[in-house]
Amino acid sequence: MAKAHAITLIPGDGIGPEVSAAVVRIVEAAGAATGATFEWHRFAAGAEAFEKYKEYIPQALYRSIEENKVALKGPVTTPVGGGFSSINVALRQRFELFANFRPVKNLPGLKTRYPGIDLIIVRENTEDLYAGLEHEIIPGVVQSLKIITEKASTRIANFAFDYARKNGRKKIHAIHKANIMKLSDGLFLRCCRGVAATYPDVTYAEHIVDNTCMQLVMNPYQYDILLTENLYGDIISDLCSAFVGGLGLVPGANLGTECAIFEAVHGSAPDIAGKDLANPTALLQSAVLMLHHIGEKTTAERIQVGLEKVYTEGKVLTKDVGGSSGTSAFCEAVLTAMESA
Ligand code: ATP
Repeated sequence: MAKAHAITLIPGDGIGPEVSAAVVRIVEAAGAATGATFEWHRFAAGAEAFEKYKEYIPQALYRSIEENKVALKGPVTTPVGGGFSSINVALRQRFELFANFRPVKNLPGLKTRYPGIDLIIVRENTEDLYAGLEHEIIPGVVQSLKIITEKASTRIANFAFDYARKNGRKKIHAIHKANIMKLSDGLFLRCCRGVAATYPDVTYAEHIVDNTCMQLVMNPYQYDILLTENLYGDIISDLCSAFVGGLGLVPGANLGTECAIFEAVHGSAPDIAGKDLANPTALLQSAVLMLHHIGEKTTAERIQVGLEKVYTEGKVLTKDVGGSSGTSAFCEAVLTAMESA
């Protein structure tokens, strides 16, 4: 029997524990059928970890990711205004997970505002206004620093173009506001243009971020890969999730050269936490990306087939996508669909 895959699991908070429990059950069941086994190394992060260990990110969690090289992460709440800074951002920075990869694609059978969407957001993940460099200059005046570097911009552009070439994607739009932020977004664009020149087989274009929002709503089909800085990518991801049914559906991967953390685009959704209402699809599709990443293609495909069967039948769906079933019933439906696929 092949060695078990050791995976660091951060269930997260809010809806995190519900969606991760469902996803682990489904991955385990798929693995049982394909011969893949998993060892889940579970860790708390954020407020829960602070209560237990007086650390928002326990050292043991850092070590686990370093060792396993791969993690599946539920959402962890970042308090608005005061409180601790983002666990998500800290993990991305610590492991230099420079590429945030978010495929936005319709699931079969699910009626949404736009059919046939298939676009990808490639978001720079380590700098920009997310560097968290804020300070008060004098009472009533604060400064937040937007950091853009040639190194990180070139690295993310290379990632996007390389992905496009290897996966037959045809067009990349760099998203910017260089008309206003001439130095920072100007540098980002110069780096994108430099990389684009070395990929003549991939069409390159540039759109200003506010226009992009309008263009996306008017005609999302004009886009293939959206290459963005950190903040624009965050905002555009939520917008694009609405094309395919909302935040409950869109997966994500944070990729570095050493490690990778897979997590849904959505946050901890405290409004629906603990009520068996959350849609685990986004985290499940993140787990599918993870399985491809670790070479478990057959297991990934088994899950995808089961998931698509449930959506195609449309009988057991969660409320966010127009159904009336809960997280657990949806999970059972995917398990049954995988069995009968
Ligand atoms: P963050 O800033 O942490 O990314 P956010 O502002 O994007 O968070 P979310 O926590 O993702 O906010 O939730 C936004 C809304 O989307 C919530 O009100 C919630 O009802 C809905 N939502 C998010 N995720 C899911 C899900 N998995 N299933 C159902 N509804 C969800």
